[in-house]
Amino acid sequence: MNRQAKISLAKNLNEKMSFLSFEKRLSLTISHFKTAIFTSSLGLEDQVLTFAITNNKLAIKIITLETGRLFPQTKQLIKDTKSHFQIQIEEFSPNKSELQTYIDEYQLNGFYESIEARKACCEVRKLVPLKQAIKNTDVWVTGLRGEQSNNRADLPFAQYNESFDIIKINPLADVKLEEIWQIIKQNNIPTNPLHQKGYPSIGCEPCTRAIKNGEDERAGRWWWEQDQNRECGLHLPAENQRSNIQQNSEIS
Ligand code: SF4
Repeated sequence: MNRQAKISLAKNLNEKMSFLSFEKRLSLTISHFKTAIFTSSLGLEDQVLTFAITNNKLAIKIITLETGRLFPQTKQLIKDTKSHFQIQIEEFSPNKSELQTYIDEYQLNGFYESIEARKACCEVRKLVPLKQAIKNTDVWVTGLRGEQSNNRADLPFAQYNESFDIIKINPLADVKLEEIWQIIKQNNIPTNPLHQKGYPSIGCEPCTRAIKNGEDERAGRWWWEQDQNRECGLHLPAENQRSNIQQNSEIS
């Protein structure tokens, strides 16, 4: 499928999905594509999607990015989730020589020193492994929610991702945190114990802190940076807008 066809399909799916439950959005996704990947970072939303995929026996491969800087609690949750659902979660790690090149240039924790160094670290530890994970895949499913931050407030259900030339599906885009917790509790889904300690959004250990009252859910990520649009590059702020679907579909 060429780029323009992907843009049109994303627009069409986005419209259809606005009337569906998140589980039906997942079913609609697999009815349109041969191969689907769900990238889980083991967050609350991801655990709900893993539950829905497993419970409904949907043909969506679950993967995670093992950046090498995860919290011990997240690593344990990967093991617990595999065992709880009796599933495989494929782990994608950074390329060793590319990682060494990054460390030689910026130092292991050089990401605190500049946005350039931080983006270079996210590139080698997340983006490159993600590219590897989704190559030869037709569609990419994520656990993003619009409520997570101002950047994501207008998140579409389906969108064309320019960087990876792939259709991305966000089935939880309009789901509220309260509903996520309800599903987790009702179904006894394993979660990261850090959520109970003020960490609603959990990434790499050195780049995540607990949030304070009144802060948005992602305020604890790369907290030392001033840029309000900070993201790791997997999900760019500009694409997190439903209006962009229309805009992208007009680009020939
Ligand atoms: Fe590196 Fe931090 Fe990005 Fe993880 S979140 S890849 S440690 S800069």
